Amino acid sequence: MLNKKVYSTINLRARRNAQTGVNMEKRFEKEAEKLLLQMTLEEKAGLCSGSNFWETKGVERLLLEKIMVTDGPHGLRKQAGAGDHLGLNESVKATCFPTAATTACSFDTALMTKMGEALGEECLQEEVSVLLGPGVNIKRNPLCGRNFEYFSEDPYLTGEMAAALIKGVQSKGIGTSMKHYAANNQEARRMVINAVIDERALREIYLAGFERAVKKAQPWTLMCSYNQINGEFGSQNKKLLTDILRKEWGFEGAVMTDWGAIVERVKGLKSGLDLEMPYAGPSNDAAIVEAVRNGSLKEEILDTAVLRMICLLLKAKENKKEGYHYDAAKHHELAREVAAASSVLLKNENNILPLAKDARVAVLGEFAKIPRYQGAGSSRINPLKLENLCDVLEERGVDFTYAKGYDLAQEQADEESLDEAAAAARTADSVIVCIGLPDAYESEGFDRDHMCLPAGHVELLKRAAAENSNIVILLFGGSAVEMPWIDCADALLMLYLGGEAGASAAADILFGDVNPSGRLAESFPYKLEDNPSYAYFPGGSKTVEYRESIYVGYRYYDKADVEVRFPFGYGLSYTTFAYENLEAVKKDENVLVSLLVKNTGDKAGAEVVQLYISQKDTSVFKPVRELKGFAKVYLEPEEEKEVNIVLEQRDFAYYNKDRGRWVTEEGEYSIAAASSSKEIRLAVDIRLDGEEKETAKQPESYCNLKAPFTVSGEIFEQLYGQPLPPAKREPGEGYTINSTLGEIAKTRVGSTLLVQMQQGIEAMTGGMKDAEDGMARMFERMMDEMPVRALGMFSQGQIGAEQIREIVEAVNKEEQ
Ligand code: BGC
Repeated sequence: MLNKKVYSTINLRARRNAQTGVNMEKRFEKEAEKLLLQMTLEEKAGLCSGSNFWETKGVERLLLEKIMVTDGPHGLRKQAGAGDHLGLNESVKATCFPTAATTACSFDTALMTKMGEALGEECLQEEVSVLLGPGVNIKRNPLCGRNFEYFSEDPYLTGEMAAALIKGVQSKGIGTSMKHYAANNQEARRMVINAVIDERALREIYLAGFERAVKKAQPWTLMCSYNQINGEFGSQNKKLLTDILRKEWGFEGAVMTDWGAIVERVKGLKSGLDLEMPYAGPSNDAAIVEAVRNGSLKEEILDTAVLRMICLLLKAKENKKEGYHYDAAKHHELAREVAAASSVLLKNENNILPLAKDARVAVLGEFAKIPRYQGAGSSRINPLKLENLCDVLEERGVDFTYAKGYDLAQEQADEESLDEAAAAARTADSVIVCIGLPDAYESEGFDRDHMCLPAGHVELLKRAAAENSNIVILLFGGSAVEMPWIDCADALLMLYLGGEAGASAAADILFGDVNPSGRLAESFPYKLEDNPSYAYFPGGSKTVEYRESIYVGYRYYDKADVEVRFPFGYGLSYTTFAYENLEAVKKDENVLVSLLVKNTGDKAGAEVVQLYISQKDTSVFKPVRELKGFAKVYLEPEEEKEVNIVLEQRDFAYYNKDRGRWVTEEGEYSIAAASSSKEIRLAVDIRLDGEEKETAKQPESYCNLKAPFTVSGEIFEQLYGQPLPPAKREPGEGYTINSTLGEIAKTRVGSTLLVQMQQGIEAMTGGMKDAEDGMARMFERMMDEMPVRALGMFSQGQIGAEQIREIVEAVNKEEQ
C-alpha cells in the first residue's frame, strides 16, 4: 500500500532538520522527496538495509536502482560469486595499489588524488558505486593487526591523505566510505570492546582525521566501527553520528554499518545510522516497521535516513558509465610510482645505495619471490599483475643469485637454506636481504603478539652479514618493528606493503632511477615497551582505556623525552636539502608561512617540508609539537623553490572539554619547519591574540610525562570525567546479545554453538594454502570473539533475531 500521508515537502524538510540537524545533498533532494512520498512504510524500512552481501536494495516500481558497494581501500575487491567480508572467496582482478600505511609515507596529496582517480575508474568498469575506504583510524599501538590499512599515528596527516584519496575517487562519480568511525584501534575484541577515551583525546586524536576529511572532501558515505566508544556502540552512537558528524562537521552523506555492526536497529536509526550492511534477514526491517506503527519511532526519522539513501542511489545512477574500461597498464605504472614515492630509506651508510647497475648482487629471502605486498582480510585484492623482485631484476638484466634463506611458512630457518644463502652472499658485491612480517603475523581480525620479525628472517640477515659487509635490507610489513639487528646492514629501505608493482618500485630506488622521498608516517620505537599505550593495550575483556590520552606516537616520545629508533617524518634521500628564510605573517584569521627549500646535492629529488606548531606558554597540557602542515617539493640539483603553507586558527587550538569547543589560547607560539619531528631546521615565533588562558589546575601526570608511561585509574578517571566502567566481565553477570561466543562457551549450549561455528569455518577455510595462514588465524580468533548478535549476519539471515534471543536465554538459564 502506498504511503498516503500528504505533507508538503517544505514541512517535511523543516521537521526533518529539527530532528536530526541534517545537511542533505542538495542536488538530489527534491527528486528524493518526491520518491519518498510514493513509498510504502515497508519499502522505506527496506531501503535502510542491504539486499545481499554487497548490494543495497532499490525500489523497482519507482525505478530506483540498487547499488553495489565493495572493499577497498587500496584496490577493488569485487566478488562476482559468493560474498564474504573477509577476503575468502575469489574476487575479480584489480590493480592492487600500496596500502594506506605505505601511501601515507609519500606525504604526497596530489599523488593520492591520482591514485583515487584510478580506483574510481576501476569502480566504473566494474559497476561498483561505492568503494569501502579509506580507513582513517589512528595507529595507537604498533601491534594493531590492521595498522597496514591505516595511514598514520598523526591525525593531520591522516586527514589530509584521506581527503586527497576521497577527492580522487569521487571525482569519477564513485562514492567512498570512510571507515571505521571511530576508535577502531585494535582488532582484539573489536566487535564488542568499549574504547574509553577522554574527550580531548577523542577530539584531537581519534576524530580529527575524520573531521578533516569530512570537511575537505565530503565522502559520500561513512562506515561506523564495530566497537563501543565511551559506552555506546559505533552503530548507535548519537553523539558521534549526529551531534558531531552532521551537526558540527556538516556531513551530507549516508552512514552505513561495518559488516555486522548493527546492535539495536531502531536505536541505530534514531542515532543517525542510515544503512545496515550486509543483508542479515528480515528481522530488522520488520522491527523498523513495527516501531513506526506503534509510535516508538517517529516516521520523520526513518524518512531522513531513507532520503539520504535515495540521494545516494540517485547520485550513483547519474554517474554510471556503461561499457567503461580502465587502462590496466597505466594503473600498474601508477601503482609503481606510488610505491616508489612511499618507500622510506631509513639508513644508507657510506652511501651504499644506489647500487651500481652492473653490481653482482645476492638476493636473499623468500619475500624476493613471494612478496608481502598487501594485508590479509577484507581488503585483500586479487592483483592484476603481481611482480616479484627476482623477476624484476631478471628483466632489468641485473647480475644476481637468489637464495630463499627462510621459508615463509616457518618461524625458524633451516640450516641448509641458511648455508645456501651464506654461500650466495660470500661471492657477491652487495647483498639484498628481504625480510619482514609475514601474513600470519599481521592481519585483520587479530593483533600482533610482539614487534619482532620471525627468528628465521633475523638469522638469515646475521648469516649474510657474517659473509659480506655490503648489506641492504628490504623491509616488508604494515607497521613498525623492533630492529635490534639493524647494525648488520649499511642500508635499510622500508617498503611497507607496496602493492602489485612494489618490486619494480624497490628496484627503481635500489639502482637510483628514483630518488627515495618517503617519510615515516609513524614513529619506530626501540622496543614495544616504549610505546605509551603499552600497559593499556588491548585492555580487558570489556574495555580498553586510552590512558595515554593525547600522547600518541611522537606526541608522547617528544614529551617524555624517549629516544626512538626512527622518528615520525623521518626518511633519507640521495640528495640533500637546505631550508632558508622561514617567515610567518598573520593575515586575518590565518598565519601565512613561507620558506625557501633548496636542493644542495647533485641528484634531483623531493623533500617533505613539515610544519610543527608548539605553544610556548600554554596553560593546559600539550604535546611538545604537532604537525599542522606539510608540502612535498620536487627539486632539480641546485634548484630552489618557495614553499607556502597556510595555517588556520584551528591549527593552534586544543579541545576544551568544559567549554565544549576548540580554543586557541592567546600567547606565544613557535612554528618550526622540519625534516622530521626530531629534526627542526628553522623556527619562528608568533604571538596570537586568542582566548584567555585556562585557570583550572592541570593534572601533573599529563604535564610532566615519565617513561615508561603509566597513570593510575584514579587520575585517568578524573581526566575522563566520569566513573570508569568495569574493565572485565564479572562472573555471573549474565549474558547478552553482545556476549562473545568465547564467553558463552562456558555453558553447554554456548560451547556446542562455538564448536558448530568452528566446524562451519573449517569447512570454508579447509583448503587454504600455507601463505594464507593469516586468514586461518583470523577465523580462529574471530569465532571466539564474535558476539552472539553477529550470528544473524554470519548466517546471512538464517539465524534470526528470535533465535538469537533464545540462545541468550538458554545460556543465561544454564548460568543460574
Ligand atoms: C571490515 C570492513 C569491511 C567490511 C566488508 C569488515 O569486516 O571491518 O573494513 O569494509 O568487512 O568487507
